[in-house]
Amino acid sequence: MYKKILCAVDITSEGESILAKANALAEQYGSELSMVHVIEYTFLPKDYQKKLKQEVLPKVHSMADQYSLKKKNRFVKFGQSYVQICDLVKKHDIDLVVIGSHGKHGVKALLGSTANAVLQQVECDVLLVKLNS
Ligand code: AMP
Repeated sequence: MYKKILCAVDITSEGESILAKANALAEQYGSELSMVHVIEYTFLPKDYQKKLKQEVLPKVHSMADQYSLKKKNRFVKFGQSYVQICDLVKKHDIDLVVIGSHGKHGVKALLGSTANAVLQQVECDVLLVKLNS
């Protein structure tokens, strides 16, 4: 049903539960699973960007290793989360995005700001993982 699933994680413990659900769906549908974490900084000197990336990569890899994600399917991007997520959806023909209902930005209205923006911008399906904390 879904060929390509993209899971958006903000590398918190909740990110792990979102990725676990995305992986269960990928197994069920025989889909290719990717994950993305966005470092929400722009306009930083290249050296500093590199340093930030080096800091998050071990966490991204340790999450991705749990589900044997291919290296090419582990994305770390810079910028605004929803912009980067939507960009990947287009570039990689993603047909399902798995995303948390809220994250570090807290509960805003019914949906977190990232989930809301992604839902409005992508043409594919979006699975919202309801987070209670
Ligand atoms: P928020 O907009 O912070 O309420 O987060 C809602 C959901 O968007 C989170 O549970 C994640 O699935 C996703 N998300 C938030 N921030 C990021 C990020 N920096 N990189 C990737 N996904 C994110």
